[in-house]
Parts: sequence; C-alpha cells; structure tokens
Amino acid sequence: MATGAQVLPPDAETAIEARRCSVAPCDGEVAAEIEARPLCVEHFMTVSMSELDSRSRKLKDVSFESTEMETFRALLASCAQQAHRLSEDERHSDTRTKARLLDILLRASQLGQSLRRSSRVESAVSVYVRREDPGRVWEEETWTSTISRHGAGLVCRHLVEKGGQVILCRKDRGERARARVVYCHYDAQGRRQIGIEFLDGSDFWDYGNQSRSAQRA
Ligand SMILES: [Zn+2]
Repeated sequence: MATGAQVLPPDAETAIEARRCSVAPCDGEVAAEIEARPLCVEHFMTVSMSELDSRSRKLKDVSFESTEMETFRALLASCAQQAHRLSEDERHSDTRTKARLLDILLRASQLGQSLRRSSRVESAVSVYVRREDPGRVWEEETWTSTISRHGAGLVCRHLVEKGGQVILCRKDRGERARARVVYCHYDAQGRRQIGIEFLDGSDFWDYGNQSRSAQRA
C-alpha cells in the first residue's frame, strides 16, 4: 500500500517539473517563460537579451510577412510584457535587477520600433486581390502594408484561410501574380491583415533591382 508515499498523478509531476528553471543546472524558481521555456528571473534576463539580439541580426534579410518575423514579433511582445511585470514585483526590486529588466524593456521597444519603421518604408502599393476558386470568386481593391521580394502583407476585407490561393494584380502596371496566403490576423485597428507569398517566383515589385544596388553599396 502506498499510503505513506505521496503519489502524484503524472500531470501534477509534470507541473512541478515545469516550475523549475529550464537552464541546467540552475533549478531556480520559475518567474517567466520564453517560448515555452520556464526560466528564473536571472535566466529570463540573460536568455531574453541574447535571443532578442541574435534573432534581430538573423532577421535582417527575412521578409516582413514570414513566419520567422511573426514569431519574432511575438517574442518581442512577450519579453517586454514579462520584463515589465517582473520590474514591478517587489521581490526583484534590487537596483541591478531592476536596471537589467528595464534594459530588456528598452531593447524590445527599440527593436519593435525599428521593425515598424522598416515595414513602413516598404510602402503602400495599390493592388487588386482576386480569388478565383470555383464558387468563391471575388475581387477587392486594397493596398500593401509591407512588401518583400517574396510576398507582401496587405489589408483584406474578404475572409481567406491560411493556405488559400489568391491572385494579386498591380493597379499601376496591371501585372498579375499567383500567391498563397501564409497568415491571416487582425491588426490593432481591427482590420484583417493577410500575408501572401508569391508562387511563381516573379519579381512582382522590382525588388531585385533595389536589393542588388543596396548590396553593392
Ligand atoms: Zn535559472
């Protein structure tokens, strides 16, 4: 009979396991989480700083509507939110910890601002988005929020699912390209934003010319 021993259901054991910092051999009390990794305050600070820096470097050439960029935006938001929460917690009120937490907040906000700036520079291009699936034919006039060599992010009033196919048509030059929807979400203004990726490998935005001259410079 296992009356004396404390027998925990498997779930409870996992939960207790998860309460420990995941950086070996730390074992500290969990205060935050980065992408599902439980971390103590100390390791939240070191891991978030190094992740923010290394990822932002790697993302220099990644398109604004890629999954990596979405993941990075989520990481920025989560680091900032947790750094803010911890900085207001009296248990972490020593000057050094507080300063480091505020550093993380500052870094996340700078990176967020520079992301927004560069995506604005990418400019708005007027386009028609068209769906030509049997039984689901529609067209709307809209504009891009971001563009990159391989795709674009744009406002779309029609409901489209991830993986669906659309046709993009430039208003200024009439060029057409087939594209696949890679994400669909609502922005802060409540507008539906979709990310598309071209299927034909065409240089729809003349992007090649711009980045080639940028590389030479
Ligand atoms: Zn730790």
